[in-house]
Amino acid sequence: MKILIVEDEVSIAEVVGAYAKRDGYEVVYANDGEEALEKFDEDHFDLVVLDLMLPKINGEEVCRRIREKSSVPIIMLTAKSSESDVVYGLDTGANDYVTKPFSPRVLMARIRANLRQKETRDNIAAGVFAGGRIEIDPERVEIRKDGVSIPVTKSEFLIFSTLVSKPVRTWSREEIIRSALGDDYDGFDRTIDTYVKNLRKKLAEPGHENGWIKTIYGFGYRFDDEK
Ligand code: CA
Repeated sequence: MKILIVEDEVSIAEVVGAYAKRDGYEVVYANDGEEALEKFDEDHFDLVVLDLMLPKINGEEVCRRIREKSSVPIIMLTAKSSESDVVYGLDTGANDYVTKPFSPRVLMARIRANLRQKETRDNIAAGVFAGGRIEIDPERVEIRKDGVSIPVTKSEFLIFSTLVSKPVRTWSREEIIRSALGDDYDGFDRTIDTYVKNLRKKLAEPGHENGWIKTIYGFGYRFDDEK
């Protein structure tokens, strides 16, 4: 796994790089936005750690340009922490953000979580289910019902896609967490129930009150692939 670290402050880049190498990743550094885009084009990267305030081309613009050609996970490092800045960062296509000053351990956990989610997304087959009524679109992280996009969070998308990926299989809560949210997920098994409840609220209709998600009592959930 190879990570591109885009950071003009050498001391921060070195710390991030050292932790990443210790965790077994290959590391390539870029000191400004222009170099970041050049290096990104020259090589294959599994993830990008991207500082926001960069010389030449700023992080937001770098993020936007990478997004035009790639779905690589991007974690933004930002000193900005107000809510609107964070929303803006995510709007430019970043998958996640960590605000400075940050703990390298937290950043590494985010890197693992984002790589895991990428793997899950890559394993999600785009397709139509429930007799063609429900569509899963991993590229756009979108669930559509009868052609209409259902507003879901990233976690809800990943959980629903996990269930749909093997329609006849019943998943335990723990399996859903491991597959959809990753090992670093620190919540309780029962949190899945809240996600499922929200998904049902968004997908349900008369005749499909369970939102195509069947509860298997004492075990977990499965996708209810009925028309
Ligand atoms: Ca900077």
